[in-house]
Amino acid sequence: MTDPRARTDAIEHASRDELSALQLQQLQWSLRHAYENVPHFRSAFQAAGVHPDDMKQLGDLAKFPFTVKTDLRDNYPFGMFAVPREQVVRIHASSGTTGKPTVVGYTQGDIDNWADLMARSIRAAGGRPGDIVHVAYGYGLFTGGLGAHYGAERLGCSVVPMSGGQTEKQVQLIHEFGARVIMVTPSYMLAIADEMERMGLDPKASPIEVGIFGAEPWTESMRTEIETRVGMQAVDIFGLSEIMGPGVAIECLETKDGLHIWEDHFYPEIIDPETGEVLPDGAFGELVITTMTKEALPMVRYRTRDLTRLLPGTARSHRRIEKITGRSDDMLIIRGVNLFPTQIEELLLQDERLSPHYQLQVDRPGNLDQLTVRVEPKPEIAGDRAACEAAGSRLAGRIKTMCGLSAAIDMQPVGGVARSMGKAQRIVDNRPRG
Ligand code: ADP
Repeated sequence: MTDPRARTDAIEHASRDELSALQLQQLQWSLRHAYENVPHFRSAFQAAGVHPDDMKQLGDLAKFPFTVKTDLRDNYPFGMFAVPREQVVRIHASSGTTGKPTVVGYTQGDIDNWADLMARSIRAAGGRPGDIVHVAYGYGLFTGGLGAHYGAERLGCSVVPMSGGQTEKQVQLIHEFGARVIMVTPSYMLAIADEMERMGLDPKASPIEVGIFGAEPWTESMRTEIETRVGMQAVDIFGLSEIMGPGVAIECLETKDGLHIWEDHFYPEIIDPETGEVLPDGAFGELVITTMTKEALPMVRYRTRDLTRLLPGTARSHRRIEKITGRSDDMLIIRGVNLFPTQIEELLLQDERLSPHYQLQVDRPGNLDQLTVRVEPKPEIAGDRAACEAAGSRLAGRIKTMCGLSAAIDMQPVGGVARSMGKAQRIVDNRPRG
């Protein structure tokens, strides 16, 4: 008999009508909860001339004001909580990729929902009860480690709470314990694969069959690179602490065609980032999420700054977001040209001579921006200077043609590009601010 926990929940296949009816009801509850219990939301609703009673159909959500990261910062640390602090059983903080961390809180009910959604996500990605799940997302204030941990436990897996760092030990435990699933940032997975090779182990021979990768943008080319190199299925997971943490959206193993956003808990919209106008499904723009069940920290129309589009459901009836290749604040503007680090990743991975580690540096020595792309050769060609130079000029040429930018290629020795143990730092922007 199959373990009942291995099956999908009925809600994952609910009809659009069922989902819409549930969403309206939950949004009405959530907007009221926010309005009645969080002074920020009460005054923001009043300033926008709306009241939770105005939420009569799903389209009415567009009348409500957006919430942005600075609203959380302005109410630091606990001012956005909608329940008495004593009911908050857990506090996390966002990793502060783009500034001072923002504080988030959870009731016991929120923690339970999160564990359920993570369990659902891990299962959709190919995890099964009984699996050994190696969690190499950082534990601590970052939501990645504990989020993955509780979800894997809820699914009935044996969790190895390794956290980030101690890469040699990671490799040892993956092999000795027989991890079937790994949960880690894609950039740190590469460092783990490098370490396997350094230790004389073939990554393909590792016990890992499924990798659940997220917390940072990564391209389809990176997926192919990791899948081929480690001999595993690489699945994308998305989340952000302001909304919950990891497990807001997940790819299904059987399709790997974008991430299903769990629409029974999170209501997604895509807006034009310039005008704030809601765009139709299929249009590219900024992802905005409203929570529908969060007790401690309800979020109304939170602007994620992540750029993507909404697509219809496939393996699940819940809509998908297209793989996120960047967030608006990751976009570099160099000499007037817009550039996301993932565009360079895509080009870099097309050359077999180059390794997938990279970093972009922008300087302004005079009045002109200068882009430097720091890369490494694959160890096989590292001793061949001519091959390294040829790979470097080819990359510069590709960047010029595809992105319209002249870039200096800084070919580092193997291991020369800074490795991350969590989210990779892709950009070093040395230009004066302001
Ligand atoms: P911070 O905003 O400080 O990075 P979080 O740790 O909450 O805070 O990270 C959430 C952000 O990480 C998301 O808004 C998104 O930009 C990025 N992210 C998370 N998962 C993915 C993913 N699978 N693909 C692309 N970006 C992701």
